[in-house]
Amino acid sequence: MIHRMAFRVLSAGILATGLIMATLLAQTAGLNADEKALVAFVDAHNADALALLERVVNINSGTQNHRGVQEVGQVFRQELDTLGFKTRWVDGAPFKRAGHLVDEHAGPGPKTLLIGHLDTVFEADSPFQKFEKIDETHARGPGVIDMKGGNVILIQALKALASTGTLKTMNVTIVMTGDEEDAGEPLIEARKALVDAAKGAASAIGFEDGPGDPRTAVVARRGTSAWTLRVKAQPAHSSQIFRKDIGTGAIFEAARILNTLREKMAGEPHLTFNPGAIVGGTSAEFDNVQARGTAFGKTNVIAEHAIVTGDLRTLSQGQLTKAKKTMEAIVAATLPHAQSTITFEDGYPPLAPTEGNHKLLAMYDKASRDVGAGPVAAVDPDRAGAADVSFVAGEVKMILDGVGLMGTSDHTVKETADLATLPSQTKRAAVLLYRLSK
Ligand SMILES: [Zn+2]
Repeated sequence: MIHRMAFRVLSAGILATGLIMATLLAQTAGLNADEKALVAFVDAHNADALALLERVVNINSGTQNHRGVQEVGQVFRQELDTLGFKTRWVDGAPFKRAGHLVDEHAGPGPKTLLIGHLDTVFEADSPFQKFEKIDETHARGPGVIDMKGGNVILIQALKALASTGTLKTMNVTIVMTGDEEDAGEPLIEARKALVDAAKGAASAIGFEDGPGDPRTAVVARRGTSAWTLRVKAQPAHSSQIFRKDIGTGAIFEAARILNTLREKMAGEPHLTFNPGAIVGGTSAEFDNVQARGTAFGKTNVIAEHAIVTGDLRTLSQGQLTKAKKTMEAIVAATLPHAQSTITFEDGYPPLAPTEGNHKLLAMYDKASRDVGAGPVAAVDPDRAGAADVSFVAGEVKMILDGVGLMGTSDHTVKETADLATLPSQTKRAAVLLYRLSK
């Protein structure tokens, strides 16, 4: 009996193993021998990736904690040194931040730029400081998905490619910025290393967490600009308002402009603009840095000044240019005895959903299906915030972002990683990089 039982269990075991093997084979049917080796490496070394993630999450790297940001950079730098990258630290003093880690691996293949960031929104005084495993597949921690997890995936994918000998001939540059969450000023200085690194790259991949869903990736992000509207009008006794030679005052003129902006521009797809603050009266001042203003005015005096500040978000450079022109025209059509000016300050540029970006997404989707991780579609750009990848939009034809570690609640003390996506996201990335290198 015992023998028979043992045999039954054993045969059931063989059957189960056979099924798992068959499923695995079916799942990886689209992979060549090298790619299968990449997948096997990722599975065999997942514990190492997890340990690296825990280590870096436990180092505070709030954007203003320059030392912490540099320390996290040092950990990744050592990993990349071992892989044969030429690594260097870009000093952040000129833009008052920690700086960036830049790593180059020269090879004959087409150049790929990989983008990460070392900082998090959780400063040294945040109550949220440590990596904490919740259960087998979930862990909470500051920056665990935004985006220390993405950095680990990037490095682990390169380790897999090194193990198969593919990395040797690959042309890869990595930039991990130290101030993604709160970029240094001037912005052009703070992003110079990133833009320089993009020169000559055929593709660029950002390992942000995106909307946190492995079924989606990012091919487009809206850019953001800030605007300031200043209105000056003729002051007079309030009883004389609307007289032909006096006019309506600055506050009515500001109201006309804002209402016309809403009537003419609201509802255009992917375009939003939001007046965030307004001050007006006999005198008005607004401090853009402090985002704070003061005004003085009496009810019986026609307002002489008004200031409004707001933002403007667009999906492409063309949409931004057009929106600015419309706003300028509305501002220029002033009521009598008022003069208005609007000025713009561009922040993060838009990442338009180009054909090249969609092509890279299609390759990623294919890689994902081939490793058994399912299809990947583009996420609605209105749901994707601004990110570093947008700065290389003018330099690189194929751009993809949001392929890092997935999870929920980034930028909050509940930031949680779905650890099951650590190996699956790494496999997709490794196979994509392999195919891009060919
Ligand atoms: Zn991020």
